[in-house]
Formats: sequence, C-alpha cells, structure tokens
Amino acid sequence: MVKEYNPYLEYVKDELFLEGVSLRELAEKYGTPLYVYSASYIRDRLREYRESFPGALICYAVKANFNPHIVSLMAGEGAGADIVSGGELYVALMAGVNPSRIVYAGVGKTVKELVEAIKADILMFNVESRMELEILNQLGEQLGKKVRISIRVNPHVDPKTHPYIATGMKKSKFGIDIDRAEEEYRYALSMKNIQVVGVHCHIGSQILDTSPYVEAVSKVVDLYRSLEDQGIELQYLDIGGGLGIKYKPEDRALTPMELSSALSPILQKVKATVVLEPGRSLVGNAGVLITQVQFVKDKGEKHFVIVDAGMNDLIRPAIYDAYHHILPVVKRGRPSIVTDVVGPICETGDFLAKDRQLEEVGRGDYLAVLSAGAYGFAMSSHYNVRPRACEVLVDRGYVRVIREREDYQYILSKSS
Ligand SMILES: *Cc1c(COP(=O)(O)O)cnc(C)c1O
Repeated sequence: MVKEYNPYLEYVKDELFLEGVSLRELAEKYGTPLYVYSASYIRDRLREYRESFPGALICYAVKANFNPHIVSLMAGEGAGADIVSGGELYVALMAGVNPSRIVYAGVGKTVKELVEAIKADILMFNVESRMELEILNQLGEQLGKKVRISIRVNPHVDPKTHPYIATGMKKSKFGIDIDRAEEEYRYALSMKNIQVVGVHCHIGSQILDTSPYVEAVSKVVDLYRSLEDQGIELQYLDIGGGLGIKYKPEDRALTPMELSSALSPILQKVKATVVLEPGRSLVGNAGVLITQVQFVKDKGEKHFVIVDAGMNDLIRPAIYDAYHHILPVVKRGRPSIVTDVVGPICETGDFLAKDRQLEEVGRGDYLAVLSAGAYGFAMSSHYNVRPRACEVLVDRGYVRVIREREDYQYILSKSS
C-alpha cells in the first residue's frame, strides 16, 4: 500500500524507509519537523513525462517546491521551469535552468519582475491581461528587446478540483477569456516590441480525470489553428500543469501516459512544440514530513495526538481541507484508534488529520505525513515565531541536507 504512494517508500521490519534510508534515523539526527524527499522518485517522474510526451518541453512549476537543490535536480535532467515571480526566476537561474526553457505566468507581475525576466531572455511570458501586454511592449522598447509572449487563455473549463485550485473557470482571475483571445492576439501583433510565439492555458491543480484536459486542450487547439489560419505564426502550445496525485488511499493518480493518450488525437491537429508545466505530480509524493508526537490527549468525545508540525509547516489541511495520509514511522502493532492529529499552533484550523484511524501512538513516537513534497515547505511560514523545518534529500542511499533548520535569530534577522 505504501509503495503506491512512492515505490521508494517501504517498511523494513516495521520501520519506514525512503530510498534505503531509515526515517527514524533521519528524525533522530536532524530533528523534527523534517521534510525528506526522494531524488530517484523525482527523476523517475520526469522521465515518465519525457517518454509520454516526446519532443515536449517540460517546465517544472517551481512554486510546488522551490528548494534550489530540487530545481537543480530537475535542470540536470533537462527540465525547464515554469515561474510565477521574480524570486522563482532567481531560483531557476541559480539552479542552472537554461533561460530558453523558462516560462513566466502570473496575473500581477511587477515592473521589477518583468525587467528581470526580459533581461534574462526567458523563453516566453504567459501574459494574463491587456495591460500586462502594453507594459511588456514599453519595457521591450526601453530595453531594446523583442519580448516573446503567449497569451494565457481561460477556456472556461471546470477541472472538478478544490475551488481554490481551479484556475480556468469563467469567474477566475487568471488568463484572458478565450472568446476575446483573438482580439488580444491581433492587438499583440500590432506591437513593435512584442513577438507572439504561442498559446497558454492552465486550468487548475490536483486533476484526477482526463476530461477537463480534453475539453480545455480542444478549445486551445481550435484557437491555435484559427490564429494560424489568419497567418499568425506560432510555435508553442503550453497546456499547463495540474496532474493530480494520490493523497487518499483510494485515490488513483492520472499518469502522464494516460494524459498523453487522451490528448494525442487533439495535439496531432497542430504542428507545435508542446509545453507542460507539472509541479505537484513531479514532487508531491517524493516527499514526506516527519513529525514527533508531543502529547496525547483524550477528551472523551475526542482523542488528540499533538505533534510538533503545525499549519506553519504544512498548511494544506487548514486551507484546502486537504487529506494527507499519516503512518507511524515505527509500527508497534498496537490497536488502532480514531484521532485528530493536530499541531501546536493557536488556531483551530491547525490540524493535519481529523477523525483518522491510526495505530495508537505515544509521546516521542514519529509519524510520517505522506504526499508532502509539493506545496508543503513552499507554503510554510513563521507563524507563532516557529522556525521553518529542515529539508533533506535522499538519493540512492545518500543523504544531503538541502536546507538547514531555521532558528529564532534567522526569523528576526530583518527586524533589527
Ligand atoms: C501552479 C501552476 C502550475 C503547476 O500546477 P501543479 O498542479 O502543481 O502541476 C503550472 N502552471 C501554472 C501557470 C501554475 O500557476
């Protein structure tokens, strides 16, 4: 069962190992909360994408996990980067991503960020409004550069995911309505310092079914062909990210191959370089969050396991009501109980699991929170003046600290 999350995750004599390394030993050595990622898992997922979409450009969505060592691992395997901020551009360049493989989306890019990316000569801006187009044209003029762009179109598709991570519906702030896209393309073509190179869409995240993709990509391919029919030369068809992963034991993740099979009849209608922007599906199940039980508390009605990882370390349960599977790092064969697993933070929303069936645990025991590699550390904060967790990468038995645990001085270092 554990291997369905990550083939490198396994119990050896009742103790949980990731890529040949004991998670108990890591927790004892580096302390908790501790993020541990499997490098081989990430390489395997990237290869799966490459084999499923031959000739496509795979741009890792840096926001899922911005640790430069993770981004550098991706770059080493030939991946590009999908960025949404100047900070992510900085990380991508620092990690060795070739700028000719960087795409930049986001509804609120600042002038500073736009200038940084123009100077870096990235592959393209995925433009989300007419005003952004105008500013890019002006900046291109000032910097003496022609700016490559795609327009992010909003295809009005319901990805059937959590509303907070649906981005391609009519009421969403993202992209330009697909019915108005041709007009915007013509406007872009009239601009001296803009070079139109493609079409972009990204409909949402944690998508477990091919149908929203089929619907969206069909619409985007129609637009692409219509633009080409009007003599507009395009090269890139960027279909975004969003492939879902297994969180619940009953979830079945969509594979890149299944997505490719569903999309290939549609993609064949255009001669374009396909761009993909996977985030979660590359790193989500590469990572686990190890936390230690501090206290156990029985209030009659309810049982609580209080651990040292809080919503500042992993906020997904609090903001998306997300499910993360939790396992004991060492199985003790005790009877199972129904419990909430909660953090130490002064918020009722500070929980990792609710009414969860779990083997009874005691003070000092370690728990592994699965599927924590994406939007885990990346969304962490200092709330309650809690230093952020340590991050460790395991690679075929080798262990490397890729980010040290913070301390109080670090948190306050800009508040002198
Ligand atoms: C967040 C995001 C992605 C990645 O989404 P995942 O669900 O992590 O694959 C890709 N493209 C854009 C534009 C995004 O905002």
